[in-house]
Amino acid sequence: DAAGLTTAARYAEGDGACGASLRPGVAGRTALTLRVQTGCEEHCSYCIIPSTRGRGRSHPLPVVLENIRRGTAAGYKEIAITGVHLGSYGRDLGDGTTLDALVRALAEWPEDVLFRISSLEPMDCTREVVRLIAGSGRLAPHFHLPLQHGSDAMLSAMGRPYTAAYYSDLLEVIQARLPDASIGTDIIVGFPGETDDHFARTLVAVERLPFSHVHVFPYSDRPGTAAASLPGKVDGTVVRARARAVRDAGSRLARSFQSAQIGTTRRALTIDDGSRAVTDNYLKLQLPPGHGRNEWVRVRIEGTPGALEGVVVEPTASARPSTAAPTS
Ligand code: SF4
Repeated sequence: DAAGLTTAARYAEGDGACGASLRPGVAGRTALTLRVQTGCEEHCSYCIIPSTRGRGRSHPLPVVLENIRRGTAAGYKEIAITGVHLGSYGRDLGDGTTLDALVRALAEWPEDVLFRISSLEPMDCTREVVRLIAGSGRLAPHFHLPLQHGSDAMLSAMGRPYTAAYYSDLLEVIQARLPDASIGTDIIVGFPGETDDHFARTLVAVERLPFSHVHVFPYSDRPGTAAASLPGKVDGTVVRARARAVRDAGSRLARSFQSAQIGTTRRALTIDDGSRAVTDNYLKLQLPPGHGRNEWVRVRIEGTPGALEGVVVEPTASARPSTAAPTS
């Protein structure tokens, strides 16, 4: 969990998305994390990665597919696909390989496995990726799309190549096709030059968008980045108050997403000792005894937000898609 990290620590040297350290996700070690790319050629002014990790380098598609085959042969049922800048996957290979091509191969995967696409920059989450995720039972209805800010002036100062309106349109497309999808985001507060008005735009954007998970990163200088030499540093007390306000909004959204999912039936993978499971749309549930680890189950979601429970309606070895409609 990235909670409590400032931007200087978050956008660091790890092999995960945008320099996050590669740690097991909600599915813990039950899922395989497969890194398909490293390096980044974007220009986010708060981020040190382009100068420490260098240009984007992708594993050729046949290598990725072979690694997936090895993972499934070893018994993995869920595979998270990640990279420092996953959206640029294939660009360096010079053979026309793209993220869309990779996701298409995953969508058509012949074996019983669920792929979870990790963090994607908003400009890299193409309509084709959304269409493939919506149309294939192999791809988890789960997106992580760092918005970072609700003000276009701040996005521009951060070197982020999209607008708040573009982002909100993208989420509309996702919601229209995948109303039960889990959508996470990252938000930076206290970026140099951030005024009360800029911040208000972030807060309004967060409150208005259908997020299930919001991660907040208070800005801090990372020596060597363009942002470190920007004027208009925001007072620490103000930064902390803004972080709190966005976190509170994020908690409300998380509860509301979970409430809306209660009563639905999803497929889920059992984790830990089998007493918990993670749904395809990234909810963690408590299960009654009787299951081992790494088993597919179909569960009806019950309980309360923050303490969700899964009632197993069908123990199954199949990863067929969830039904969205409530069962009661
Ligand atoms: S996309 Fe931006 S934040 Fe992510 S690694 Fe590249 S420069 Fe850093």
